[in-house]
Amino acid sequence: LVPRLEPFTSTIFAEMTALAARTGAVNLGQGFPDTDGPPSMLAAAQEAIATGVNQYPPGPGRPELRAAIAAQRERYGTTFDPDSEILVTVGATEAIAAAMLALVEAGDEVVLFEPYYDSYAASVALAGATRRVVSLVEAPDGRFAVDLEALAAAITPRTRVVLVNSPHNPTGTVFTREELAGIAALCVEHDLIAVTDEVYESLTYDGVEHVPLGTLPGMAQRTVTISSAGKMFNCTGWKIGWVCGPATLVSAVRAAKQFMTFVGGAPFQPAVAHALDTESAWVEGLRADLSAKRDRLAEGLAAAGFGVRPSSGTYFICADVRPLGFTDGAELCFDLPGRIGVAAVPVQVFTDNPDRWRHIVRFAFCKRDDVLDQAVQRLHTLA
Ligand code: PMP
Ligand code: GLN
Repeated sequence: LVPRLEPFTSTIFAEMTALAARTGAVNLGQGFPDTDGPPSMLAAAQEAIATGVNQYPPGPGRPELRAAIAAQRERYGTTFDPDSEILVTVGATEAIAAAMLALVEAGDEVVLFEPYYDSYAASVALAGATRRVVSLVEAPDGRFAVDLEALAAAITPRTRVVLVNSPHNPTGTVFTREELAGIAALCVEHDLIAVTDEVYESLTYDGVEHVPLGTLPGMAQRTVTISSAGKMFNCTGWKIGWVCGPATLVSAVRAAKQFMTFVGGAPFQPAVAHALDTESAWVEGLRADLSAKRDRLAEGLAAAGFGVRPSSGTYFICADVRPLGFTDGAELCFDLPGRIGVAAVPVQVFTDNPDRWRHIVRFAFCKRDDVLDQAVQRLHTLA
């Protein structure tokens, strides 16, 4: 293995899911739902397989899916040309890696907000580039907020891309319009490309609005917008993702993508197109369910003695382990499955500054209520 990839040999999600399986623990570590997506979408995939949609789809993705993605983005007031401004990818993960390979050169710098989703650092390393990390800061109400001064300080003449994930995994923070406007202003001032990861775009709660960075003034021409069907329709294993943006940037990402997987997921593409076109009420139901699950887990964690932080989106809620007398989230997370039968993820592994994040662990609430209740019951035995 080349040295620059040595830090990335195994992911915390694989480790924790394996540990949960070995110990029979309730898995609130890896974020994936334990119920299926809309029945009409599942039927559409079966129909596609049965009717021969099993060969290579077109390089940019099947036309009905690109049209459905363009129609879905209209809700934000943005129009993308399905033929030149949309690319279907093998999940958001491939889109992020392809964007890095296509847009940054060895030696360039990419700014990430920490804690960062694990594939970002690995994708920057794949491209031979260097990451510059800006920590989210804990506001007095416990929300993890954007520090615009720290962002400004992290930008150098080598900076090429700012990668922005909102709604944010692992904190559950949804970046505010003001925070995004601050990021946009710095991108414009320094002529940077923004790559956005919006895979949780439909999962915001309490009326909190998801604002795509690419909709802000000056940003459309410099933003690569990435999303995916996995979280929108409970189909994380289908790996249908997409890239939207100006034709120049999308065709650059496509140039890299075509030599990574070329294409993927043929029969799932029409099924996701069908879901985008017809299942927005189902997604609203999912959002309501997840918001109730967030409340359920938040109350349970608080009652078990954790210092629960606010989450306005995603599958995740963060908690401070210090009120229970622990100091190191990683130690706790590796101990919990064997000791009480619950798996969670330490947030420090998503950072370059583990000391700042050592006390925070992430729990996934995208699980059936009985699963959440069982986890909470077990966590009560910690106190
Ligand atoms: N970005 C974030 C923030 C995620 O949490 C995930 C994991 N689900 C992904 C990207 C990967 O998305 P996909 O499964 O579509 O590759
Ligand atoms: N996105 C999921 C999470 O954050 C995990 C996906 C993966 O295992 N790579 O838990």
